[in-house]
Amino acid sequence: MIILMAPWATEKHVSDLRKHIINSGMSASVLENAGRKLIAVSLCGGPLFEKSFETWPGVEQTFPIIQPFMLASREFNPENTLIQLKMKKSPGVKPAIFGGNDVQIIAGPCAVEDEKSCMEIAEKVKEAGCNIFRGGVFKARTSPYAFQGLGKKGLKILEKIKKQFGMFIVTEVLDSSEIPPTIEVADVLQIGTRNMTNFRLLESLGKFDKPILLKRGMSSTIREFLMAAEYILKNGNPNVILCERGIRTFETHTRFTMDINAFPAIKQISHLPIIADPSHATGSWRLVESVSLAAVAAGADGLLIEVHTDPKNALSDGVQSILPERLPALIKKVRAIKNILIEE
Ligand code: PEP
Ligand code: MN
Repeated sequence: MIILMAPWATEKHVSDLRKHIINSGMSASVLENAGRKLIAVSLCGGPLFEKSFETWPGVEQTFPIIQPFMLASREFNPENTLIQLKMKKSPGVKPAIFGGNDVQIIAGPCAVEDEKSCMEIAEKVKEAGCNIFRGGVFKARTSPYAFQGLGKKGLKILEKIKKQFGMFIVTEVLDSSEIPPTIEVADVLQIGTRNMTNFRLLESLGKFDKPILLKRGMSSTIREFLMAAEYILKNGNPNVILCERGIRTFETHTRFTMDINAFPAIKQISHLPIIADPSHATGSWRLVESVSLAAVAAGADGLLIEVHTDPKNALSDGVQSILPERLPALIKKVRAIKNILIEE
């Protein structure tokens, strides 16, 4: 349930009511939208009825929530959530906003392999017009024998890229112990498909305000995906960017299947930005551009694209990595599609 406080409600009205809700065995998160305070209440096991809250001073109205992902739902926040990346130490770098009128392009190699190749990829990706670099240093590989990433050494390389090229950094964490060193360098922490249901990890991420790129579990429903986002939101971090990266179907021709339905479906029921990862969804560099265009046409707010200067020797996901030379044409086309959508 959502309790909408009146415009004239005082801090005391809000805090008294919040205390009362918590003392009654329910959870209550206070949020603000357009200058109005809202209290999101979980009624699970709660003894009080929704309407009874309307007798409290400062309360304007109560709304039942049908969706179980209260905070992620549009019922809770009808406006799109905009998530802004800002370079505090370099104010000259243009902020990147997810959820607005721009398509944000995140690009880089699957894994940070070594300094030389990574710097080279970053330079080319930047030249192609991308301002957000992504590279994995803690890798979640299917095989324990495959390259597992450079770990903290890789973070140093990402730091260098950030300084030298003024690019925002996205990188994955696999467990809570990796959050503190990574948060020092990264502008966005990625949670991979295999960790979407690692609820303790999601709870830990809720304690920070760093934006989280949450990938959909490869076998998760849209509802489960939004419930995972809810774990982060409920624990206090409102900055969640969703990422559809393909799901398992009976089709084996491609690595996964991009769920194009997910973009308009999630946009209808959630206010969170959602981007597409056509690289993992298809598993083939030849399909990346077409699927990127389809995802943006369906409403994606951005793309996460694997790029490598030497795909055949890449230590991870070379077959789905495009050459940086292919980026400018792709970006031009997705921006043209986005412009048609926003003109409507
Ligand atoms: C990745 O982004 O390189 C990755 C491993 O993605 P996913 O978790 O979607 O498989
Ligand atoms: Mn990858």
